[in-house]
Amino acid sequence: MSTVLEGGCLCAKIRFRATQAPLRTLVCHCTFCQRMTGSSFYAESLFPIAAVEFEGGRPRKYEHTSDGSGKAVYVEFCADCGTTLGLTFERWPELRAISRGCYDNPNAAAITANIWTRSAQSGVALPSGIDCFNEARMTKEGVPERPSRYANPVMVSSAGDA
Ligand SMILES: [Zn+2]
Ligand SMILES: [Zn+2]
Repeated sequence: MSTVLEGGCLCAKIRFRATQAPLRTLVCHCTFCQRMTGSSFYAESLFPIAAVEFEGGRPRKYEHTSDGSGKAVYVEFCADCGTTLGLTFERWPELRAISRGCYDNPNAAAITANIWTRSAQSGVALPSGIDCFNEARMTKEGVPERPSRYANPVMVSSAGDA
């Protein structure tokens, strides 16, 4: 199978290859992603779980229970350098997230939406021209949410103002 995207962790012990383009690439502003990354947001691509192969070793997993769903989210990271390579989900066992920052060429995976903008940090700009969701793309019941599309970037001035 041909490699569409590849990348790895900071120390390069764990490498991955994706054999198809991502289903979508999201910027997530949820408080879990902020704390997990120690940063302002998390950019992640979602793939069918079988479309990503690892070499050099398997990521170690940290199990976190989601406040929202009560289901486990697994943070998959390199045990040597601590880089978060991606996420897997009890709720969506058919999917895997890969950290956009771990690609050799992050720009090869265009961002398709911003989610959980209601908890975006101050000083962050929400982009124009792509879907921005207040919370997730769908309700817990699986009903699609309506996104906003901004004509110009929107600066977040304080938590909850977006
Ligand atoms: Zn590493
Ligand atoms: Zn998140």
